[in-house]
Amino acid sequence: HLLKALEIQGFKSFPDKTVLNFGEDITAIVGPNGSGKSNISDAIRWVMGEQSTKSLRGAKMEDVIFGGTEKRGQVGFAQVTLVIDNTEHIFPTMDEAEVAVTRRYYRSGESEYYINRQSVRLRDVYELFLDTGMGREGYSIIGQGKIDEILSVKSGERREVFEEAAGISKYRHRKEESERKLERTEENLVRINDKIAELE
Ligand code: ATP
Repeated sequence: HLLKALEIQGFKSFPDKTVLNFGEDITAIVGPNGSGKSNISDAIRWVMGEQSTKSLRGAKMEDVIFGGTEKRGQVGFAQVTLVIDNTEHIFPTMDEAEVAVTRRYYRSGESEYYINRQSVRLRDVYELFLDTGMGREGYSIIGQGKIDEILSVKSGERREVFEEAAGISKYRHRKEESERKLERTEENLVRINDKIAELE
């Protein structure tokens, strides 16, 4: 069991700090319509670095911050921490038995990301999850309508889902980086050859 706990504070319908401890077995979240069940899976995708406000069911990123109700005023920031078991080294680059990823977002538009309480960049969070099969683009969270999407999207996009699952997307990223480097080197060669021709 990979997900150990989720801490939500100021995120969507959760103004107060709320801690969900996931047990060894299946965890089911039940509640009436509109009670915040989907907000919990939104929180998991958000802390993994989700940037699409549309897929977070909002218009702008500020919409993830608790906006107040009749009884309570709005809060200034949203914060979510996801605690993941790393005893099986799902994150090969991390030695710790537990990895806590935190994302905080202020109304001012400022974002903060932490891995085990160390301030990091969004890119670091993205790379942490890359090829674990847990990424924000991974297959581990199947939202309402996602099945239809997997069945109907273009073959290239469908292929990406399987590449992420198979753990080969990091090689594709590296290949693309190498191709860009090669291109730059070829351009430099052309320039050097021009210079040599000028000198001759
Ligand atoms: P359903 O079963 O209908 O899918 P659900 O339990 O999944 O419902 P959610 O969609 O998770 O419910 O929660 C919707 C609720 O969250 C709404 O009442 C909405 O007002 C509230 N909500 C969403 N964003 C915010 C926010 N920024 N501030 C306050 N409340 C919010």
